[in-house]
Amino acid sequence: MEPSETTIFDKILSKEIPSDVVYEDELCLAFRDIAPQAPVHVLVIPKRKDGLSQLSKADARHKELLGHLLFVAQHVAKSEGLAEGFRIVINDGKHGCQAVYHLHLHVLGGRQLTWPPG
Ligand code: IMP
Repeated sequence: MEPSETTIFDKILSKEIPSDVVYEDELCLAFRDIAPQAPVHVLVIPKRKDGLSQLSKADARHKELLGHLLFVAQHVAKSEGLAEGFRIVINDGKHGCQAVYHLHLHVLGGRQLTWPPG
């Protein structure tokens, strides 16, 4: 998929398509991935994309939001019971295997993950 203005995540945010929400605040939404790669696989997305189709589009005005998203990601990991550890992933662009061009953090856990990733 090429970077575009609207993505499936806009439809999730507008509730046009359903999602399994695990956390929500004024800045972001966290919901379960439709194709989980681990027992826990949650996506954390900003409600306002604000030019952030991908992490590499970030500029100084996004610093606070980026910090918030990371904070929420670890909060979700804790509330999902990932006491043994977890992984936060941000795929960026073609080489990063990004499929949806609306910034999102993957929260993965609930099994032993391996390293390095493919
Ligand atoms: P990316 O490769 O980092 O862009 O990951 C996009 C993620 O969005 C993938 O893990 C998909 O499974 C997930 N995804 C795509 N459509 C939906 C949906 O409708 N609901 C929940 N997750 C989705």
